[in-house]
Amino acid sequence: MTNFCPVLWPEEPTPEHLINCSSCGLDKQGSRMVWGEGNPEAPIMVVLDNPGAREDREGNPFVCGTRQMLQQAVNHVSLDKDDLYITYILKRKPVRAYDKERTRQICMVHLKEQLQAKQPDFIVCLGNVAVQSFFQNPKLDVKTLRGVMHHVQGFRTVVGYHPLAVRRRPNLRPLFIEDWEFVAYQYFQKK
Ligand code: SF4
Repeated sequence: MTNFCPVLWPEEPTPEHLINCSSCGLDKQGSRMVWGEGNPEAPIMVVLDNPGAREDREGNPFVCGTRQMLQQAVNHVSLDKDDLYITYILKRKPVRAYDKERTRQICMVHLKEQLQAKQPDFIVCLGNVAVQSFFQNPKLDVKTLRGVMHHVQGFRTVVGYHPLAVRRRPNLRPLFIEDWEFVAYQYFQKK
């Protein structure tokens, strides 16, 4: 994975009528909306908890640690960036305390609309927050659900570790690669 150079994947614009969405109140925290990234028509939809910044403090494009780790794993298992679309449970990054349960429930409406419109072949849910929100069960975790195909909200769904958790705990890296090998296996066997 050493020679690979991560780049910022193209951002899918937020739909016009939702640019000023204030349904959950996170708009008051000041972070900007990120609707999705990658190929909007991709067969694999990755769901994370919320977007990291795409720009540094001076407004220059910036590939955050989460994106770097994710892209390295994708590259390692020979998936192409056009195979993937990344989106979030929350389309804005919370920067202060907030009502987690309520906010996630509200924004989930947008994810459900994306799923209906895009109809991906399967979903990859990364990290406990995304898993608990998408599976609608606060007791679930990645550790017990990874490595198996699930069926959730009408979609085939795979579970894996959050790239940021892997950055913070390098001992998770082999498991994270395993997660992505499983994603690639599911993808290539269907092709
Ligand atoms: S996080 Fe979701 S519900 Fe909240 S303002 Fe953004 S799009 Fe709307």
